[in-house]
Parts: sequence; C-alpha cells; structure tokens
Amino acid sequence: YGDANQKVDYVFKVVLIGDSAVGKSQILARFARNEFSLDSKATIGVEFQTRTLVIQHKSVKAQIWDTAGQERYRAVTSAYYRGAVGAMLVYDITRRQSFDHIPRWLEELRSHADKNIVIILIGNKSDLEDARAVPTEDAKEFAEKEGLFFLETSALESTNVETSFMTVLTEIFNIVN
Ligand code: GDP
Ligand code: MG
Repeated sequence: YGDANQKVDYVFKVVLIGDSAVGKSQILARFARNEFSLDSKATIGVEFQTRTLVIQHKSVKAQIWDTAGQERYRAVTSAYYRGAVGAMLVYDITRRQSFDHIPRWLEELRSHADKNIVIILIGNKSDLEDARAVPTEDAKEFAEKEGLFFLETSALESTNVETSFMTVLTEIFNIVN
C-alpha cells in the first residue's frame, strides 16, 4: 500500500459519487488503506487518497476523490470532476432511493466530466443481503443500457472493492495505451 519512493508512470484521477451514506468513504478507506469503520465521520474532510499499483508492468498512481459530504444535488462542483478519467457511481443495495437517484448522478457526471470517462456502477453493502431493496438484475440492466461497468461490493467484508478499482483503472490504462 505504500507510495514512497516509487517511480510513477501514470496518475489517474477517479471520482466517487452517489448519495450520502451509501459507503463511498468506506470503499475508499478499504481500497487506499485496507481499513473499514462503522463510524462514517472517520474520514470527513479528506479530499482524496492515493494508492500506487502496477498494471501491465507500469506503475499507476490512483488518485481517488471523495465528496466529503457534498452529496446534495448539484452541490458537487465542477472542480471535483475536472481531470477525472474514471468515476464510481455508488448506491446502497438496501436503499432503493439511492439507486433511483443514479440517473441524476449520471446526468450530472456526463454534463461535467470528460465524455470518455470510464464509469462503474457499484451496488455497495452486499453483505446486507437480508435487507436488499435493489435486485441485482435491475442494476445490471441499467448498467448495460447506459454502457457502464457494474459490480456489487461490500466495503465491510472487502468483497469486490479491489476488483471494482482494477476494472476502472485497467480500462483507463487500455484507453491511454
Ligand atoms: P458515504 O456517505 O457514502 O461516504 O458513506 P460512508 O462510507 O460514510 O458509510 C456510511 C455508513 O455505511 C457507515 O456507517 C459505514 O460503516 C456503513 N457502510 C459502508 N460500507 C458498508 C458495507 O459494505 N456494508 C455495511 N454493512 N455497511 C457499510
Ligand atoms: Mg463520505
């Protein structure tokens, strides 16, 4: 996980968006530091975190931006999206409303970000299967229609978090190479 003294071939900015409390900050904490907290206040105020990894023998620094509480509609500024080459659009599988808001987030993303941005739709909290309110099929169908990657994750159990980031970063890598 350490970034120190590493030669960096690429820096990719990736933004996290989606309703409040869907687990964006914990997905980032899991990816960047392999940590998880049930206390959501733990990461407030952090602009972005980085992790350097290797893709096809090149060193890639992923710079992941977190909204830090600006999730109200239209509160995320264009500076947040500027320069982003990837986006993770997150909803909570136990909260239908967070999924119903995804088209709105997608619209906002597409109006602010580069048109070639790589987007993955993420249904987080897959560990809470008993409380599921969004069928996997609904999300899969939406993602296919919109041309997005799609995965369900659990930041708590560390399921598919690594795979989600690798999916986005590898796709970006392939586009620039
Ligand atoms: P954010 O507002 O989107 O950044 O959401 P947070 O990362 O702050 O998470 C909101 C709440 O959901 C916190 O209490 C987290 O501990 C919890 N949470 C986040 N990810 C998961 C997960 O995968 N499973 C479960 N059960 N809880 C999660
Ligand atoms: Mg947060």
